[in-house]
Amino acid sequence: MARTFFVGGNFKLNGNKQSIKEIVERINKASIPQNVEVVLCPPAPYLDYAAGLVSKPQVSVGAQNAYYKAAGAFTGENSVEQIKDVGAKWVIIGHSERRTLFKETDEEVAEKTKFALDQGLGVILCIGETLEEKKAGVTLKVVETQLNAVIAQVKDWSNVVVAYEPVWAIGTGLAATPEDAQDIHASIRKYLSEKLGADVAEKTRILYGGSANGSNAVTFKDKKDVDGFLVGGASLKPEFVDIINSRN
Ligand code: PEP
Repeated sequence: MARTFFVGGNFKLNGNKQSIKEIVERINKASIPQNVEVVLCPPAPYLDYAAGLVSKPQVSVGAQNAYYKAAGAFTGENSVEQIKDVGAKWVIIGHSERRTLFKETDEEVAEKTKFALDQGLGVILCIGETLEEKKAGVTLKVVETQLNAVIAQVKDWSNVVVAYEPVWAIGTGLAATPEDAQDIHASIRKYLSEKLGADVAEKTRILYGGSANGSNAVTFKDKKDVDGFLVGGASLKPEFVDIINSRN
């Protein structure tokens, strides 16, 4: 079964109206294959603005985080309903910067994922090991533990995209090799198959994230379990279009 190639752009805490307009207009003007799904994730204050600028059917907008309560006294949080209300279709949950800097636990990540899915957002679920964990040889144990927390709460994975993002590769310029990424992705798919069944595993897209750029994206082209990319720094630059087109 062919899985639709998926490229997410995580702008992190970067951008303003001018730069976000330039990025979206560049994507609007680019030639993008019909069979590629692109999700642009600007900072929350610009979701509405970015969603209003997008003009291609295969491009949508996503948030970088969402809370697991519908409304109420939760100062500073963004609700799933609000994110949907301004035109976003996706949310990134469990990014390593949220896990590390904001101390999000596996359980909170699972709770946020469940809530967002139940309310109708697609979820880009981030998992990945630190350098210490990689050196200790526990990469699979780490990603399985992260997945397990979500598996315990979420049974329908049809709107989940998994992003395998080794923490040591994020923002460092040191991407995983395509061979290493393929190995981990295949193990993640095997694990999903054991826990959720072969059909879910076969359909779930597994993205690679961590210093993907316009030059190295194409080197992942023949890796059958790499179904796209989650891109940080390079999503702000013209080379993002090369990543989007790297499979064609
Ligand atoms: C990310 O933030 O998800 C990411 C992969 O960042 P970068 O591409 O900059 O490594």
